[in-house]
Amino acid sequence: MAFASSSQLRSSIASHQLKAALRIGSIGSSDQRLVPSAVAFGKLRRKKMAVRPIYAESERSHLLVPLEASTVASLELEDNSSIEVEEDYERLAKELENASPLQIMDKALEKFGNEIAIAFSGAEDVALIEYARLTGRPFRVFSLDTGRLNSETYKFFDEVEKHYGIHIEYMFPDAVEVQALVRGKGLFSFYDDGHQECCRVRKVRPLRRALKGLRAWITGQRKDQSPGTRAEIPVVQVDPSFEGMDGGIGSLVKWNPAANVEGQDIWSFLRAMDVPVNSLHSQGYVSIGCEPCTRPVLPGQHEREGRWWWEDSTAKECGLHKGNIKEEEAVPQLTGNGNGNLPTNGSATTAADIFNSQNIVDLSRKGIENLARLESRGEPWLVVLYAPWCRFCQAMEESYIESAGKLAGSGVKVAKFRADGDQKAYAQQELQLGSFPTVLFFPKHSSKPIKYPSEKRDVSSLMVFVNALR
Ligand code: SF4
Repeated sequence: MAFASSSQLRSSIASHQLKAALRIGSIGSSDQRLVPSAVAFGKLRRKKMAVRPIYAESERSHLLVPLEASTVASLELEDNSSIEVEEDYERLAKELENASPLQIMDKALEKFGNEIAIAFSGAEDVALIEYARLTGRPFRVFSLDTGRLNSETYKFFDEVEKHYGIHIEYMFPDAVEVQALVRGKGLFSFYDDGHQECCRVRKVRPLRRALKGLRAWITGQRKDQSPGTRAEIPVVQVDPSFEGMDGGIGSLVKWNPAANVEGQDIWSFLRAMDVPVNSLHSQGYVSIGCEPCTRPVLPGQHEREGRWWWEDSTAKECGLHKGNIKEEEAVPQLTGNGNGNLPTNGSATTAADIFNSQNIVDLSRKGIENLARLESRGEPWLVVLYAPWCRFCQAMEESYIESAGKLAGSGVKVAKFRADGDQKAYAQQELQLGSFPTVLFFPKHSSKPIKYPSEKRDVSSLMVFVNALR
């Protein structure tokens, strides 16, 4: 959803606020919030439900004060059994596909009242809080304090609380688990063996506890944030990974009101509404997480390049949104499915070949085996290990071909080797293949290829790599 101008945006908001104000005036005086289809089941009465706080261990729950003191209407039959009103969220997502984030937020808060909360990371997803404010409805906000955030983020939390007059419900990791991790593996184990374990302790488990006290949550996920994992997120979905207060997969609904909004439109909105922002943004940070795992990005770099930059792009979910990583998208991580990691839709066999250029040598298995065996070569080689169906390979096709053009006649050979299917095991064992695409540089006087370490696959980055090693 993009607003053509700030004035259009303001006028949209003003009209919505008016409607919201009118709506608030009518809440509580009638049964209009009851679900019509449920009424047909028989006599209904309102039941006062205690609002559950964002969950903490039950024995300590008396210490926690829920943010909103209001109650939520629920439906109950005479025999005290609750009516389950099933909502088709796929259909609802389609209906709301072209709705504004404000409309989606309003729908989410309307449907779930006090049993929904906004997950706030301390970054540009402050826009969610602003959207929630504009609906005129009460709302809750929670955040995961991993203990490793930047001081700027903590200051920002405080600023947001004061600006909106809210208390963010912070979730903390389990002290015993953190202690075991840090004592056993040190403070920076994620640089050695990946971020998943630390994220599991500091983020995922606290989040799991938080969500167990809710029926729905609201995230700031956007499709444009991660081409590898977020390209298809709907505006609302049954959460594929986490459980809500009723337990079991399917018991939690996940709203992504900004799914279709582009980053620049979020920033236009934040500026237009004069919303406080994390001061790290002015230092080049876009996506903001924990201090050791977040860095600024350069203009033109994708924001996810600032997160867990030492790992493969396809794995860049901390576990909070792991449902985004689909089976097919796991293919580039080469987890193996018995048929050479080909996508189940068969596209691997039908996809047209890529990296076609007279400046790029198409290496056969024998050709690359020979290349890898040589202790000394006539010239260095740059080789991409690829799969034509892989979207990341497709994305770098243009820059690789252009690089090959620049290197033509320079004394550096440029080649490609299709490493999926039957070649996968060999490429994994002998050529350091971890994910597609893998770019290798075979120096002139060494048998061991050097793996290109970056996700920056533009021409100038590739040329810097080659020129540094040739
Ligand atoms: Fe740990 Fe980094 Fe994950 Fe934060 S982002 S929980 S520091 S691995």
